[in-house]
Amino acid sequence: MSENLLYERKNGFLGIDEKLKNKIDDFCEEYKNALDMGKTEREFCSMSVQLLENAGFKNIEGMTTLSAGDKVFAVNRGKSVVAFVIGKHPITDGVNIVGAHIDSPRLDLKPWPLFEDSGIAFLKTHYYGGIRKYQWYNIPLALHGVVVKKDGTAINIVIGEDENDPIFCISDLLPHLASKYSAQKLSEAFDAEKLNVIAGNIPFDDADKEKVKYGIMKLISEKYGVTETDFMSSELELVPAFKARDLGFDRSMIAGYGHDDRVCAYTALRAIIDATAPQKTAVCLLVDKEEVGSMGNTGMQSRHFENILAKVCSLCDASYNELVLRECLSNSECLSADVGGAFDPNFPEVFEKNNSAYINQGLILTKYTGARGKSGSSDASAEFVAKIRNIFEENDVLWQTGELGRVDIGGGGTIAQFVANLDVDVIDCGVPLLGMHSPNEVAGKFDVYMAYKGYKAFMNS
Ligand code: MN
Ligand code: MN
Repeated sequence: MSENLLYERKNGFLGIDEKLKNKIDDFCEEYKNALDMGKTEREFCSMSVQLLENAGFKNIEGMTTLSAGDKVFAVNRGKSVVAFVIGKHPITDGVNIVGAHIDSPRLDLKPWPLFEDSGIAFLKTHYYGGIRKYQWYNIPLALHGVVVKKDGTAINIVIGEDENDPIFCISDLLPHLASKYSAQKLSEAFDAEKLNVIAGNIPFDDADKEKVKYGIMKLISEKYGVTETDFMSSELELVPAFKARDLGFDRSMIAGYGHDDRVCAYTALRAIIDATAPQKTAVCLLVDKEEVGSMGNTGMQSRHFENILAKVCSLCDASYNELVLRECLSNSECLSADVGGAFDPNFPEVFEKNNSAYINQGLILTKYTGARGKSGSSDASAEFVAKIRNIFEENDVLWQTGELGRVDIGGGGTIAQFVANLDVDVIDCGVPLLGMHSPNEVAGKFDVYMAYKGYKAFMNS
């Protein structure tokens, strides 16, 4: 009786059997590789398509009908992907969605980035998502992205990932001269317009002015066939140049860039690949632009998901009309798969111990997100929380509850509210992180595996 009466927390590694421990380690090796391969939304999207195709998923374009067991995917503008495994139930019974985002905080290049000052060439950046600017100084950065020329030719660029590549960095002030800045507020000491990335230093003799800038532009043009104007039609992102690594003597965690939210995206992707015969149609939805409010045609607020779901409905149901889509949405359920802030013993003052999530204590179920009085939150119903809890417990998925910090300290949102607006039952459910939104976030290996297991159980339910 006393065993079940009180809720008790548990580190998932406590008393773990060797077989599960090995499964976790193997899965996490593959996950670390995925983090290194997919450092931008575009890269993560192409990698996902590759994994889906290897697993027998087909592009929905060109399909004429769909029936139970069929596996399809659709790509949205190269930055977002949605995959389906058609279930045994009629599509009007609804679908089980696991939705994550594949964009991460980073530094984007401005449309006109290259300039020279005092003999050094720099690239001007515009940060994307919520960052603490000082964390991006003095770390090795790699440049990833695409330049699209006037004629539509796309040139993919990755510089800084190969050991022999150069890297980029933003230099911080030496402590000897920083006394004025040390006394300032962080928000004032680190100005976004000072996030200028060092790009080179050799002057080009024959140029009349800005000899270093000219030299850099000449190198870029020789290597990629790109002019300065072409930068205006580019999407170039600076991301940490290092790889994901095991963390700690016991290798119980992974430190790396982009766990938010590729840890949920990757586990959701693996879950749908392994969701072999679901009752209801299983959906893995990987969207872009969550870090800037889910805006735009590749974000969760776009009609793209509804459009593709309408197509799936029409291919599943020969007597399709719009009511089929509406009924499908009304009966659908979703895990908004996104990371949460884990309790950090170095900063206990911003957390509330009882309701915080802890590293390696399992998948977090977050009933509501939002800030202060739950503003901007989708609050999952008690009924839906109970249903998900039951699925996890039936399938040996260790889960925990998790609120993001003390009530009046801050807060955040996810895609949950936008999915909920489609008349879908939604709960936030993801992996706890330390150092969230930093260039080197920390996830627990046990939690990574529980995410995969939990998402798969939900998809198969
Ligand atoms: Mn996120
Ligand atoms: Mn985030």
